Amino acid sequence: MPSPIGHSLAGLAVGWATNRAGRPLRPLVLQSVTLAAVSVAPDLDLLWDRHSRETHSIGAALIIASLAAWRRWPIGATRPRIFLAALLVWLTHPLMDSFSIDNAPPVGVMLWWPFSTGFVHSAHAFFDPISRSWGTTEMWTRNFTAAMHEAAMILPILFVVWLVRRSDQ
Ligand SMILES: [Zn+2]
Repeated sequence: MPSPIGHSLAGLAVGWATNRAGRPLRPLVLQSVTLAAVSVAPDLDLLWDRHSRETHSIGAALIIASLAAWRRWPIGATRPRIFLAALLVWLTHPLMDSFSIDNAPPVGVMLWWPFSTGFVHSAHAFFDPISRSWGTTEMWTRNFTAAMHEAAMILPILFVVWLVRRSDQ
């Protein structure tokens, strides 16, 4: 699984591709923080020991997108746009996880829940696994390197999306 940094950057890119980047600064900050939160939120399942299961699925994405549109989260101009942004940003998370090196069983994510409880994992890994051996030097080194790889891959895409969507009034 990628780090929260990789997930957040991808969430911003997808969110801004769906809805233009908010302006001026305050809406932009509010939008960015919300998009980043949505993109990392599937990993809250670590708290109740169901990692990579229901929260990493199309079902969870649909529930969160409905909630976001209903409560008008500050990530889009209209309810359909908010729904679309939340749906796609949430889905970036399980998709990125499934394109990562995964050494901890169950391997992959329960992408199609509630339609299927099978685990999906790509044979092609673009992202390094992050370590959760808290407090070890090896964890910090490995996670920092993984986050830098993610940033190197996603930041150029994010920059282009921001350039296009910032001027796209
Ligand atoms: Zn995850």
